[in-house]
Amino acid sequence: MALACPRCKDHHQVLDLPKFWKSLPLESELRGKYAQPPEYIAQWLLPIGAVVAGVLFLAAGMVAAGVLLLAGGAGIGYWFSRLAAAAEEAREHWARSLYCRQCPAGFPREDAVAA
Ligand SMILES: [Zn+2]
Repeated sequence: MALACPRCKDHHQVLDLPKFWKSLPLESELRGKYAQPPEYIAQWLLPIGAVVAGVLFLAAGMVAAGVLLLAGGAGIGYWFSRLAAAAEEAREHWARSLYCRQCPAGFPREDAVAA
């Protein structure tokens, strides 16, 4: 069973989006439009630095500042991990997407209809 475009119902011109993207010439403006979303590069030094400083403050007896830095570092670390997970999900979604050369448009694999 072939996957067909949800708009034109054609399945002869439907390609995997990554395969289509790789086939585009370097100067094609579609390369930017249909490129895989970028990876999220987290700056882990900030939350790690806050946690290390928090531990040092706690060891030095400055409990309020230490707890604040630990909580802030953990919060930022959690936020970064959520951003990284969202970026990874967008990249996987792109990798599963399809492209119809007839329309022409990209669409999620889940939207494809049976041909
Ligand atoms: Zn189509």
